[in-house]
Amino acid sequence: MIPAFEYSDDNKRYHTYGCYLKHRFGQRVFRAAMDIGAGCPNRCGECGSHGCVFCSDGRTPRGRFTGISDNELDRLFREAAVRTGSKAEGAPFIAYLQAGSNTFGDIAAFESVYRRLLSYDNVAGLCIATRADCIDGQYAELLAGLSRETYLTVELGLQTIYDETALACGRGHTLGQFMQGYELLRERGVNLGVHIINGLPGETHDMMRETARFVGQLRPHCVKIHDLYFERGTAIAEMLSRGEAAPMELDEYVSVICDQIELMPPETVIARLTGDGDRRKLIAPEWSLHKILVLNEIDKELAARDSFQGKMFDRQENVF
Ligand code: SF4
Repeated sequence: MIPAFEYSDDNKRYHTYGCYLKHRFGQRVFRAAMDIGAGCPNRCGECGSHGCVFCSDGRTPRGRFTGISDNELDRLFREAAVRTGSKAEGAPFIAYLQAGSNTFGDIAAFESVYRRLLSYDNVAGLCIATRADCIDGQYAELLAGLSRETYLTVELGLQTIYDETALACGRGHTLGQFMQGYELLRERGVNLGVHIINGLPGETHDMMRETARFVGQLRPHCVKIHDLYFERGTAIAEMLSRGEAAPMELDEYVSVICDQIELMPPETVIARLTGDGDRRKLIAPEWSLHKILVLNEIDKELAARDSFQGKMFDRQENVF
């Protein structure tokens, strides 16, 4: 079969994470999410107390990270390894620190976690999720050093480039603050991932496209894009019940996300295009439970357009 796109082995018209990892490591590599107990400044009062309106993290708000015992980390690792092993026995995985802001707290304690995870035999790399306002010069230096030793990605939540939307969603930081953290890492050569949410309250399709165009110009290593979904117990669910927010329809989501894929550099890895909500808590949209259906609709739309990732990316533009 002739691939439909230069960064694809199959019919995909965008650069999937699976394809990237297979080429980089020469075999399948999985990601295993681990929660080491990192906190969030937007939930513990440092830049906000209520969290983002869509945050489903109902845990007792955690403050700055102070450390985790080796035994506890070993236990989390074993559990993650078992989850990964159930997909492909013996396959290596990327240890993914997904929950909370994994650079918010004691830098020595975090470095100890990063290095212990990397010392395990079947860990092929590290993915660290955090907020850009939790990156300073010291963390940037630490992460730059680690990225010279291993495959490291730092994932930063942006969600939107519009400060008025971010304010309405209780994000607790602005685009300017995001860019400061992003730049500290980018100038040191760290692989960066950016997270976008479509369908935030008050946003038009043009605004969602403009966020993607801007993010594409940041030339990130990877992006994660998904729809806004409404889970019981979140502030956004209350906004839904008051008519202050609404779920996107599947066809409009597919149309917007195909536009966004076209605006990404072809080499940027698309790590996610669908939501990953808790099906026991999900209120809407119902279609977001059906990942394969959504991905198939995206494939069909790109094929119908005879389009692919990067078709509308302007390599001459420079936001830095
Ligand atoms: S930054 Fe992440 S963990 Fe913190 S409140 Fe927002 S969604 Fe929740």
